[in-house]
Amino acid sequence: MNALIQLLDKNYELYDCRIKESDIIMEIGSKTNRFFCPYCSQPSDRVHSCYQREIQDLPIRGKRTILLVTTRKLFCDNPECQKKTFSERHPFVSIKGKKTARLENAILNKSVDVSSISASKLLASEGIRISKSSICAMLKKNAGDCG
Ligand SMILES: [Zn+2]
Repeated sequence: MNALIQLLDKNYELYDCRIKESDIIMEIGSKTNRFFCPYCSQPSDRVHSCYQREIQDLPIRGKRTILLVTTRKLFCDNPECQKKTFSERHPFVSIKGKKTARLENAILNKSVDVSSISASKLLASEGIRISKSSICAMLKKNAGDCG
């Protein structure tokens, strides 16, 4: 299972994996312990707190796959910086994203030629949970047509 996480990003590792009836839940985190403030680029390793982000990834064997990604909040000690803390960024998901970039690509690829309601049903049968309106929003963002 750790190899699966390495395919997502080689700097991440698997802490725990639970297989449920319709979901696979994988707890992961980055192996990095040095971070850079996104506002001023100063390095920091002073952890303020930790939380988990829930991010849907590509399904595995028809099961919805959820990544629980340990996300650190760090202090920025640069007195010139406007921010006192910042959150760890993950390369495979946007800042407030709920889906990995590779899952978003898969959804877009399957949604371009069918109506959003058909796409939503088709994706559900493959283990991807997304509403018709979320598909519409994604298509609009990527300048596609929404059926
Ligand atoms: Zn800073």
